[in-house]
Amino acid sequence: MELRGPKVKDYLRKFMVEPGKNVRLKKYDTGWVRHETLKTTSDGKAKGLLEEMLEKDRAALAEAQELLAASQEYGMLIVLQGMDSAGKDGTIRHVMSGVNPQGCSVHSFKVPCLEDHAHDFLWRYSRVLPERGMIGIFNRSYYEDVLVVRVHPERVETLPGKLGPGSDGFWTGRFKDINAFEKHLVRNGTLILKFFLNISKDEQKRRLLDRLNNKEKYWKFSTADLAERQFWDQYTKVYEEMLSATSTDYAPWFVVPADYKWAARTFVAEVIVSAIGGLDLSSPKISAEQLKQILAAKKELETE
Ligand code: AMP
Ligand code: MG
Repeated sequence: MELRGPKVKDYLRKFMVEPGKNVRLKKYDTGWVRHETLKTTSDGKAKGLLEEMLEKDRAALAEAQELLAASQEYGMLIVLQGMDSAGKDGTIRHVMSGVNPQGCSVHSFKVPCLEDHAHDFLWRYSRVLPERGMIGIFNRSYYEDVLVVRVHPERVETLPGKLGPGSDGFWTGRFKDINAFEKHLVRNGTLILKFFLNISKDEQKRRLLDRLNNKEKYWKFSTADLAERQFWDQYTKVYEEMLSATSTDYAPWFVVPADYKWAARTFVAEVIVSAIGGLDLSSPKISAEQLKQILAAKKELETE
């Protein structure tokens, strides 16, 4: 995976997890890390500037998506992970709002059903992967199977006892499976970008309270969110291990500072645009023969 184009700024690379790196989340700022050019700018002004950037990125993304569709070479998989209320839904809504809906699919993964559990853990995700020319977004993903399931191993799918989560190397085995799965996809023309929306525990409290203080947001609240919040430290730990084990040069993780929604959204948009830029796509070339057919068709219609 290569980031390219005028958009590539150092701060994008700064949050890309180097393969093999031992991730400690407390070293990653969840707030906005000021870019050089924004150092002397107030928060309000920075917000305005980043929203302008997002607006431009949306247009760039719409163009990039068209090129992706026209060239029919690559598909793109965007994985979004994060604690409850980290901003996954809002990021999708804001970043993808300019993209042709026909060129884009979003899949939100909830608690697996019985049919899912009767299969291997990658099955339900592999059924809905983006085809060539498409952008596919996973709102939660197979990474839940090494996150929520790791914090609550009793939620694992049906497995022969001796192959279950209690067995030696179970989680390392899943990391290897995921890396191999992604390698397979990349080798077959899927560009993979993975974003961990990194919010602080305080910010989560604010957002959950906001849901409870606001009638229009009641529907977003689930008592499970509060229950899972009690496991914050365990989640931090499993996230760290997951990020350390599965950020690869072919499918890297970005740890996105997500306490400020407007900054997180712009960050994600910038990475996507730069990564499509790195593919060096061009519209399909027209052969002399095709050009002849086009001109003949044009003439036929005009003289009809
Ligand atoms: P939400 O994203 O708020 O709609 O919540 C979806 C819920 O589904 C979360 O509580 C996730 O932890 C849960 N979930 C998603 N994928 C899995 C999985 N593979 N195994 C268990 N729970 C999952
Ligand atoms: Mg939720």
